[in-house]
Amino acid sequence: PKTAYVRTKPHLNIGTMGHVDHGKTTLTAAITKVLAERGAGTFVPFDRIDRAPEEVARGITINIAHVEYETDTRHYAHVDMPGHADYVKNMVTGAAQLDGAILVVSALDGIMPQTAEHVLLARQVGVDHIVVALNKADAGDEELTDLVELEVRDLLTAQGYGGDSVPVVRVSGLKALEGDPRWTASIEALLDAVDTYVPMPERYVDAPFLLPVENVLTITGRGTVVTGAVERGTVRVGDRVDVLGAGLESVVTGLETFGKPMDEAQAGDNVALLLRGVARGAVRRGHVVAAPGSVSPSRRFTARVYVLPTREGGRTTPVSTGYRPQFYIRTADVVGDVDLGTAAVARPGDTVDMTVELGRDVPLEPGLGFAIREGGRTVGAGTVTEVL
Ligand code: GDP
Ligand code: MG
Repeated sequence: PKTAYVRTKPHLNIGTMGHVDHGKTTLTAAITKVLAERGAGTFVPFDRIDRAPEEVARGITINIAHVEYETDTRHYAHVDMPGHADYVKNMVTGAAQLDGAILVVSALDGIMPQTAEHVLLARQVGVDHIVVALNKADAGDEELTDLVELEVRDLLTAQGYGGDSVPVVRVSGLKALEGDPRWTASIEALLDAVDTYVPMPERYVDAPFLLPVENVLTITGRGTVVTGAVERGTVRVGDRVDVLGAGLESVVTGLETFGKPMDEAQAGDNVALLLRGVARGAVRRGHVVAAPGSVSPSRRFTARVYVLPTREGGRTTPVSTGYRPQFYIRTADVVGDVDLGTAAVARPGDTVDMTVELGRDVPLEPGLGFAIREGGRTVGAGTVTEVL
């Protein structure tokens, strides 16, 4: 008999962000080292993080490193990215779905352009909780570090993060990696701040269930199975669901994760759902399984879009109103008409606001990320700002 899946600690997705060379990768390595010494994970050295393989998320190639670790109370998946363009693409498409972020600011350099841009991006895509690591505190003098702290709190306040209450922890990723006890303790303090300041996202427990369908299988004698990652909420065997796109209602009659049966699946879980009475062929990749009545699909929305620069595989020419590319939204692939309003044209490398009318209804909501593709390549990354 198959053993049931056992859930241990609640899971969160976090990541480092901040200006190049402020120490994001060093800090990521230091976190894994400090926790590995506590027996809560595996040390991932700097080189393994910084030479992360390229990954394809929503049709966009991003250099992204995932490390995982556990504190006393939580399990974290942590992402770190080498380049600024990787941050922009990842944040705008929501590829990492960050529940919170560690903003790394060098105490020697203070706020730099990418520091401010990452905070703005975090705000735009709905990352509600930021903890600050004032890094390189081993090398900075105290008065200057005090000034940098004030400056960072002001920036966060200006972006609606309540800079006065955001934890700012003085750390040294480099010294902690070298095993220095004082700076090892600083990493522990940073992790405590993340544990206490970044709340469990509501979607893990209370939000209505939603799963974008990645694949459909037919199991002879049992029925139709859909697979995918639970985007939010919880589903149990026996629950009623809507299959949006197929226009069907059904009941979940079985649930599995990595081949193990489970009674309940939560946001973040990769699952297979057995659906009662759904004919083979009625449900496809791109459809969405959701709690009954919890989402109503629509086709018109406004979005903020980063038009990829030519050197990142983007277009060589600008786009204008009337442009009609494919939109990759969750697992769906839908054509859409672009209206740039008064902006008239958007050049490769620009970030623009646009109105989109899709060729068919899909479940949409503010903050939802998507990719824009044409002729099989990705030319843009966007976030839904308003559903019309
Ligand atoms: P990233 O671009 O933000 O990922 O930055 P890296 O982690 O690659 O670090 C950039 C440089 O800063 C490297 O030379 C690191 O050794 C150095 N560095 C990182 N953290 C610290 C620190 O805490 N103290 C000092 N003195 N140097 C650091
Ligand atoms: Mg780095």
